[in-house]
Amino acid sequence: MHKSNQITVTSPLLPPLEEFIPYLEEIWDSKWITNNGQFHQKLEQALCEYLGVKYISVFTNGTLPLITALQALRITGEVITTPYSFVATSHAIWWNGLQPVFVDVDPITGNIDPDKIEAAITPRTTAIMPVHVYGNPCDTDRIDALAKKYNLKVIYDAAHAFGVKVNGKSLLEAGNMSTLSFHATKTYNTIEGGALVCHSAEMKQQIDYLKNFGFEDETVVVAPGINSKMDELRAAYGLLNLKHVDKAIAHRQKLTNAYREALSSVNGIYFLKDIEGVRHNYSYFPIFVNAEEYGMTRDELYFKLKENGVLGRRYFYPLISDFSPYKSYISASKENLPNANKLADTVICLPLHAELAEADVERILNIIIKK
Ligand SMILES: *Cc1c(COP(=O)(O)O)cnc(C)c1O
Repeated sequence: MHKSNQITVTSPLLPPLEEFIPYLEEIWDSKWITNNGQFHQKLEQALCEYLGVKYISVFTNGTLPLITALQALRITGEVITTPYSFVATSHAIWWNGLQPVFVDVDPITGNIDPDKIEAAITPRTTAIMPVHVYGNPCDTDRIDALAKKYNLKVIYDAAHAFGVKVNGKSLLEAGNMSTLSFHATKTYNTIEGGALVCHSAEMKQQIDYLKNFGFEDETVVVAPGINSKMDELRAAYGLLNLKHVDKAIAHRQKLTNAYREALSSVNGIYFLKDIEGVRHNYSYFPIFVNAEEYGMTRDELYFKLKENGVLGRRYFYPLISDFSPYKSYISASKENLPNANKLADTVICLPLHAELAEADVERILNIIIKK
């Protein structure tokens, strides 16, 4: 299949180049290209407004906010998390010298199952790091209540949940902190980038120190910080891209509806539905293949799509718990994680992005429907 005829799973939301030039000129004129410049400050303000949160700190990618959140909250020992995510979630725990403890997920949503968290808590547990997988909200009320009961901190990896609201309220208000990723592949991007959302001015201050080597001022270092600041070019790009993201989400919703409508009558293909009261962001369109009912395994369908130039992705397969740094953990066993294993073995994320044409969705659907 010729490359130009291929349909990729995602494509970055790029603002029109001519709109970006004036921002670049302003940066060049100012000669201020990083270190809490005007675009960095403007982006934080604009994101607070767009997302409906009070305190946000932007970062150079979406992994460093996870690492920094664990530092800021002084987490020790064990952190309960989900195996059904991008590998950065567990790596952030590992990089803090902590041990991830895997808990199985809900078989429908793919989010950590609150019913199974309690049994995984030990005297060494100090935090829970759930993921709002595909941007679908975790049961934050139950998770936060459990955390309160056992005096644990909660850091939500909200890398997929940009702009998601529940009953009009930002999902990012849950727990102690939430992290975002603005990587090129995400619904909203700053090329590389990310953010940490917290709930007090004091904590925001602490985070801002931590992302700049721990500097409080010229001569005072308050903590062993790191360098994870966002530069002015990407902050300006992010400010501009924020103007285009609603249109992109609306387009994603339209394509999602087209997928759902056509696939609802296909035996053995399952997909997630919208949840009442939730403003979704349509970040991903995962389907789950029941091989017996559909008459083809997930991998058979995945490779058939590929042969026809449709590059879906098996997100998330393998599970994080099956990667070599983690696979020997007791909590990584198949017996401990039956639902996560089932999802990982049956999932394909179909192409979905702001530039994808409805005709492309038709082409993809034809391959799936006409076996
Ligand atoms: C993308 C992603 C990250 C990492 O973000 P980067 O910006 O790529 O560092 C972390 N967690 C999840 C669930 C992600 O999908």
